[in-house]
Amino acid sequence: MNVTVFGTGYVGLVQGAILADVGHHVVCVDVDASKVERLIQGQIPIYEPGLEPLVRENHAAGRLEFTTDAEAGVKHGQVQFIAVGTPPDEDGSADLKYVLAVAQTIAEHMQCDQIIIDKSTVPVGTADKVKAKVAEVLAKRGRTDLGFDVVSNPEFLKEGSAVADCQKPDRIIIGTQDAATIEVMRELYAPFNRNHDKIIVMDVRSAELTKYAANCMLATKISFMNEMANLAERLGADIEAVRQGIGSDPRIGYHFIYPGVGYGGSCFPKDVQALIRTAGDIDFDAKVLKAVEARNQEQKTTLFAKILRHFDGQLDGKTFAVWGLAFKPNTDDMREAPSRVLMEALWQAGAKVQAYDPEAMEETQRIYGSRDGLTLCGTKEAALKGADALVIVTEWQSFRAPDFDLIKSQLSQATLFDGRNMFQPARMRNKGFTYYSVGRHITS
Ligand code: NAD
Repeated sequence: MNVTVFGTGYVGLVQGAILADVGHHVVCVDVDASKVERLIQGQIPIYEPGLEPLVRENHAAGRLEFTTDAEAGVKHGQVQFIAVGTPPDEDGSADLKYVLAVAQTIAEHMQCDQIIIDKSTVPVGTADKVKAKVAEVLAKRGRTDLGFDVVSNPEFLKEGSAVADCQKPDRIIIGTQDAATIEVMRELYAPFNRNHDKIIVMDVRSAELTKYAANCMLATKISFMNEMANLAERLGADIEAVRQGIGSDPRIGYHFIYPGVGYGGSCFPKDVQALIRTAGDIDFDAKVLKAVEARNQEQKTTLFAKILRHFDGQLDGKTFAVWGLAFKPNTDDMREAPSRVLMEALWQAGAKVQAYDPEAMEETQRIYGSRDGLTLCGTKEAALKGADALVIVTEWQSFRAPDFDLIKSQLSQATLFDGRNMFQPARMRNKGFTYYSVGRHITS
């Protein structure tokens, strides 16, 4: 099938690549000319395991093309994916300007009937707005003879395992009631739907809400566990024991119940805020979601609070080794990352940061440049040199079994603030560390 994808970010690029890999002919359109140029040269602008060879091979085979030429893109596809960003507006609602700009572009150039697939995460009612925009432009062009459908097909990939998630999706949500569209969507996704039927067809508004409900549920699990961790700290309990105790109940399960320093990334924070806003627009008070958001904001500051307490409020002139800058492992994405809240609080208090991340160094440089108080280090060991304490913010695999003797020898004090509960408190004590973690202040 000939497929066009607007947007070559985490979603559009991965989706384009996996569709090309099964034999579809995909044209990816982006307004960012430098990004398109890099992609044509085989340079992948984001870090995502497995993506680079997939893009390179399919591009070389001619099944995956990149262009800024929107007209050519629209002409190419039998289906047109919208996979552009929906960042939060000032009031927290999803900003639809990129989505509607693509709708406009498609309508300006379409010459035959089209299926427009909304992959971006968009509030309930957006498909209607896209439909209205396309109809308006077609009317202006005097082409009301052209037919089109707008289908909601939200994306559930996880950054860090985006390729695998798209190749083996848990579910494929198709929000439309048009029988012909459903048929085309089934054909498009048939290569990913072989083991058992993963396609769930529903009305478009339910599909749009499904995406928000999924992310809000996951964010709720995290905020809930962080609340329990804060309680455990104060009650003399160990959240890691509690986690295992509750995870053993199959109704709860072990997945996604790790306490930490709060969720970040481009999706959970903005999607929780956007659904709160959507609820507000219809005078519904989303009490649970507001609490999830508030707990998360606060959680991002807890590591700093522990550091401040340990140093009796005197951070001026201190230096901290920070391991892990990406909002989670296996990505270079730092959008809404807890590391940013921590580093900015440290700088505010007069401290310096020696930072290391296996993949997010370039992104850190892009965000902070050569900011005073920030040293970007080439290795995790280099970040330790002369620092007063080590702070772990992201649980990268390569941090799991560090050389503790080396850490001790490099730090001015053997103090470790662990935002991800990577180590056993008793073992750390035996090794001579003052060790802070999340939700297990007192025991074990
Ligand atoms: P992104 O910011 O990484 O990429 C968006 C891309 O769209 C950019 O390259 C930008 O240049 C391009 N773009 C903007 N306007 C355009 C236009 N008019 N025509 C063509 N290209 C245009 O965004 P992302 O992380 O890929 O997210 C895209 C959408 O998918 C969002 O709604 C997001 O919420 C949703 N989503 C993201 C993830 C994730 O993990 N990142 C997962 C599921 C869903």
